[in-house]
Amino acid sequence: MRLADGRAGAPSRRGGAGPSDHKAVTIAGRTVMVPVHTAASFESPYAAGRPNAAGVSVIERDGAVVGQMTFPRQPRFYALQTFDGIPYAKIAVLHGRDVLATTVLQNCIRYQSRTKTCQFCAIGQSLAAGRTIAHKTPEQLAEVARAAVLLDGVSHMVMTTGTPNATDRGAAVLCDSAFAVKASVDLAIQVQCEPPDSDRWFERMRASGIDSLGMHIEAVTPAVRERIMPGKATVPLERYMKAFEVAVPVFGRGQVSTYILAGLGDSAEAILAMAAEVIARGVYPFVVPFVPISGTPMEDHPAPTPGFMHEVLQPLAVMLRAAGLSGAASKAGCAKCGACSALSTYEATVDAPRLPPALPRVPWRPAMPDLVLEGSPLGHLAR
Ligand code: SF4
Repeated sequence: MRLADGRAGAPSRRGGAGPSDHKAVTIAGRTVMVPVHTAASFESPYAAGRPNAAGVSVIERDGAVVGQMTFPRQPRFYALQTFDGIPYAKIAVLHGRDVLATTVLQNCIRYQSRTKTCQFCAIGQSLAAGRTIAHKTPEQLAEVARAAVLLDGVSHMVMTTGTPNATDRGAAVLCDSAFAVKASVDLAIQVQCEPPDSDRWFERMRASGIDSLGMHIEAVTPAVRERIMPGKATVPLERYMKAFEVAVPVFGRGQVSTYILAGLGDSAEAILAMAAEVIARGVYPFVVPFVPISGTPMEDHPAPTPGFMHEVLQPLAVMLRAAGLSGAASKAGCAKCGACSALSTYEATVDAPRLPPALPRVPWRPAMPDLVLEGSPLGHLAR
């Protein structure tokens, strides 16, 4: 989307880990992250005008008005700085409407060389631009989280990290960080890392106060994984599956999730087959459209079309419904926030047809119990 006023609302996100180069906007009561800094967004047929005095911005498509939106306001905690002089916004930022998000370690062993780095990742860009710091200490995170809860009402927190080593793969630093935040303020926390080398980390993470865990497959086909994320692909999919099987009993069904980026080269069938694999293990597959981030090797890679996303998200929502999983049931994190994907909207529409069409609320009982049920396997219900 093109914006007439890029300064409206909360600051947009550029670089960093995960989806980026986008801005939070609220349309029809739903806050979504819309790419505004990518090359494709500059060509978008959608344009948002300057917000009026009420903060409402008109959306046009090829010059015709198609809707309106508002921007989440600038968080109050952004005005503060830590006791050691670091602006809070360099420690953690507001995502979506009410999520506090941070990248605990802004470095990654996979980012040192372009032969190993995930081709879509911009984790080093925000650090190089001075918008963040390399390592957020547990004390800093606890201080910012407390302020964000008290001043801005954030309701859950996402902590991701670059991968610091090939052993715990970030689990240790996430445990320390979550423990400090939980000691400071009552806030549901999701952490995100590669599967650690030992399954004992899952119990430690839970004991540290972590509520939900994301271990992100990103791409599902081995050839695509090796091409797009050559370093990360050295952790085989079998390790992810084993980690899911151990982590789900620790965190609970639906509290372990995995990001799958649609548009990297995997077919819709391959994504849905992988989704079925993880759903069978009680894991929520958060399928998100790939956003080509400026400055990365994939900045000119096309984003997936709306048709492709529909081909994936529609059946996925049905699969999730059948398995009793939903993003809304997640305690914290990206699955709960949902702002980077339309999956939650599809989940809501799958629910709708199952509601009875305005039937009168009369308690159910058989019309003629003795005649209908006597002698049947359900006969005891009539007595
Ligand atoms: S889905 Fe995750 S990455 Fe996207 S805005 Fe929400 S918390 Fe941030």
